[in-house]
Order: sequence, then structure tokens, then C-alpha cells
Amino acid sequence: MKTYQHWINGEWVPPARDEWIESMDPYHGGAWARIPRGNREDADRAVGAAYDAMHHGPWSRMTATERGKILRRIGDLLADAKNAQRLAEIESRDNGKLLAEMEGQLKYLPEHWYYFAGMADKIEGSVVPVDKSDMLAITYREPVGVVAALTAWNSPLMFFTIKCAPALAAGCSVVLKPSEYASVSSLELAALTKEAGLPDGVINVVTGLGQELGSPLVEHHDVAKITFTGSDVTGAKVYETAARTMKRVSMELGGKSPNIVFEDADLESACIGAVSGIFGASGQMCTAGSRLLVQNSIRHAFTERLLDIARKLKLGDPMRADTEIGPIATRPQFEKVLRYIDIAKSEGAQCVLGGRAATGDGLSGRQFVEPTIFTGVSSSMRIAQEEVFGPVLSIIGFDTEDDAVKIGNDVIYGLAAGVWTRDVGRAIRMSKALRAGMVWVNTYRAYSFTMPIGGMKQSGLGRESGMEAINDYLETKSVMISTTSSAPENAFVQR
Ligand code: NAD
Repeated sequence: MKTYQHWINGEWVPPARDEWIESMDPYHGGAWARIPRGNREDADRAVGAAYDAMHHGPWSRMTATERGKILRRIGDLLADAKNAQRLAEIESRDNGKLLAEMEGQLKYLPEHWYYFAGMADKIEGSVVPVDKSDMLAITYREPVGVVAALTAWNSPLMFFTIKCAPALAAGCSVVLKPSEYASVSSLELAALTKEAGLPDGVINVVTGLGQELGSPLVEHHDVAKITFTGSDVTGAKVYETAARTMKRVSMELGGKSPNIVFEDADLESACIGAVSGIFGASGQMCTAGSRLLVQNSIRHAFTERLLDIARKLKLGDPMRADTEIGPIATRPQFEKVLRYIDIAKSEGAQCVLGGRAATGDGLSGRQFVEPTIFTGVSSSMRIAQEEVFGPVLSIIGFDTEDDAVKIGNDVIYGLAAGVWTRDVGRAIRMSKALRAGMVWVNTYRAYSFTMPIGGMKQSGLGRESGMEAINDYLETKSVMISTTSSAPENAFVQR
């Protein structure tokens, strides 16, 4: 079993207190790696390194073009087949994500680095046509400062990338704390950035628990910005703590996304979209289409077709190419999913598929939940309102477009939504009416590094990916320069 250390200031550093967390393999069971259980002292060390790198080290003197070249090299290292395979296998081992999905993700991650590499030297201030003829008025767009990035367990390499690539392009330095349940891939990627020529201290990764290590990072006076991916409950706590020192905050939180199927849709595609939306990544996606809204005229037939497909899904070893559903990543999450299934049953929803821990060859005693489908769900039930984060689908019927919008928006979240229709006008109307940060029409789970990702309502604040992402890591400074040679007439009148 490999023992990891924190990655601070370009080297492996043991935790201040000799305490460790065992990182569990969700498929085989048991610990497969040890990571440091960091505390406030480790947070101080990492923030100190990031602060020095940003304000005094070579990073602070580099041109934006040079920064961009380093980002490009990080992309190249991720695109290298050996690195990509190693990282994909590590993450799959650590959180049970399908290796096939990780391999696909690793092919795409370099594009994020290249995109922000190109953006680094296109961050421009402005010359403002100010209403004073004796002034030159300009704005600078400066890096916001040291960024603390707190991430969830379901896609650590993706979160590392979509936070660090824009932060570095802007000129910031970062202390990243991945989830204590899946930290290893982030540690490995941090070490790889050194090979790309990233100066020491620009990216630091420390591991540990939220209360013991995450909190001190959020409280730290030398941290200027928090970027958080996780649950809305923790997000709200982090937001509150960050407010005390007026930190900039962006939040990628949970969802209860509607995937809406109209009777005029290509129903076969919609069915595949529904499966992908809830059973992909075993439902452990913030954007999971966990509420399937189906027009009542086709609801029965559509449910039958969906059941046909879902019954045949193959559960098993996430490393095998033919596995479609892997284990639930953590024991507490596994228990939470089963609890929600019980809640749905007690609320009177009808379980038409699954509804328990999976058993059978290679599954019994492990963290597998059967693909589960509930019908007879009403929008007020907890199963239709609260995020489960597992392979559990609620089917809700609707009659009209207005009903679909009403039910679709009837949750505290607003992360994503899917719409399936052949009617272009309806597609556009729905895309406008749904209160969600991302709307997919006749597709689901489509992402691009050029497109903003983020949520409305309690699904978050700010946007990652795309041009907008860079703004979260920049601060505008206004500079007014007098061009007169004479002294002001009156010191007590505002100019
Ligand atoms: P979580 O909120 O439990 O933890 C997220 C991170 O916050 C972890 O690193 C954790 O250690 C840290 N943390 C916990 N308490 C803290 C505290 N008091 N101060 C500072 N940091 C603290 O989330 P999770 O269980 O790891 O992830 C699942 C959740 O993440 C789901 O709700 C899911 O929807 C959400 N998520 C959102 C997105 C998105 O992009 N919107 C993507 C993936 C996951």
C-alpha cells in the first residue's frame, strides 16, 4: 500500500501531525493507499507556499505568455498516453468510476488546459473614455490572489482541471484540498505539473478532513478566493465562513435535474438519454437527471422501454470494459442511497425496478445499488425534491408544456435540465423557461471546455469552463492618472 504525503511548494511533505487516512477501494474493499490527515498547520504551510509563489517567486514575474506555455505543457503531459492511463486507473481505483469513462475523460482534460493556456495572454484591461480631459483612466485585471479549491470525490481530476487551469491562466496560485475519499489522483496530477515547469508553490495539494483542514483554509487571511465543489449543505457553511473575511466565492453544488420527455420526441434517443442521465457514473453526478418528467400520453410505453434497457445494465468491476455500473464510491454514500430508497417507498412511490443493494456474483457485500426506478412519484415527495446522488430515478407524469416547466422548476436546485422534443419552438421556449444553469435539448451530459458550467438557485454561484470562468480569478483595479502639471485649486472638492 502506497503512502502519500502532501504536495507543498513543489515537494512531498509529511503531515504536521503524524496522522493518516486510509483511502478505500470501493470495488475490492479495504484500503489501497494512505493519505495525510492534514490540519491547520498544514493549511498554513500550503497557503504560505502559495502566497510566496504568487507574490515573490518566479510566478509573480512571469509574463502571461510564459504562463500560457506552462499550461500548455501540463496539457501535453496529461495527453501523454502513459500518464493518462496511470491517472485514469488511479481515479478508478480510488472512487470506483468506470475506467472506460476515465479514459474518455483523460482524452478530453488536456483540451481544458490548452483553452486556458491560450487565454492567459488575452486578459486585457481597458482605457476608459473618462469625463475628465486631464486624466488618463485605465483598468488592470489582476489575479485575485491565493485560491483555496475544495473538491468532491466523484470527479477529482476534472475538478482539479476546471479550477486550476483558469486560476493559473489568471496568474493566481492554488491550494487544493480534494475530498478525503478520493485524493490520490489530485496529488499525482500536482506532482506532474512540476515536470511541466510550473514553479514551486503555484499548485499545492493538501489532504484531510473538511473540518480539520478545509475549514482552516477557508478561514485563512492570506486566501483571497474559495472555489468549492460539493454539497449545498457544506457549500452554505463554507460560504458563511468565507463571508467573515469577505473572500470571493464560487460554488458548484448539487442538483435535482429534470429530464423532460415530450410525446413528439425521438423516443429511442430520449430513452438512452434518460439512462445516461441517471445510471451514468452510477448516478453520482451533480447533473444527474434524477427526475424524469414524461408526458402522460406516452408515459406508460416510455417507462416500459426504459425498464427493458435498465434491467439489462451490467454491474461490476469498474476496470472491466464491459461494466456499465460501478460501485457507489463511499460507504456513507452507499448507505445514504439505500436510505433514500426506503424513504421513497415509505412515501408511497412505487418501486418498479431495483430498490436494494445489488447481490450476486462479485456484487454481494460490496457497495452496489441496483438501478432503481420509482413511478407514482409526486413533486412534493422527498424523493422528488432531495439529491440522492445514486442510481435512483423518479418518473413523474405531466400533461402540458406549462406543467412540465412548473414541475421542472419546483425544486430548490437549478443545475441542469434535459428536454426531448422535435418541435424547435418548444425546445427554445423550454430552454428559456427552465431555471437551470445548463439546458440540454435532445441530448444529456454534453460538456465542452468552451461552455460555462454552473447552477442557478441553490445549485451554486459563478460559472466554470468557458470564457466566463476566468473572471472568477480576476479582480479589476481602476487607475486614474492626472496629466496636468498644475496643483488642484481646492483640496476639499472631489475631482
Ligand atoms: P461535500 O460537500 O461533503 O465535500 C466537498 C468538499 O468540502 C470535500 O473536500 C470536503 O472535505 C470539504 N469540506 C467538508 N466540510 C468542510 C468544511 N466545514 N469546510 C471546508 N471544507 C469542507 O461533498 P461530497 O460528498 O464530496 O460531494 C458530493 C456533492 O458534490 C453532491 O452534492 C454533488 O451534487 C456535488 N457536486 C457538484 C458538482 C457541480 O459541479 N455542481 C460536481 C460534482 C459534485
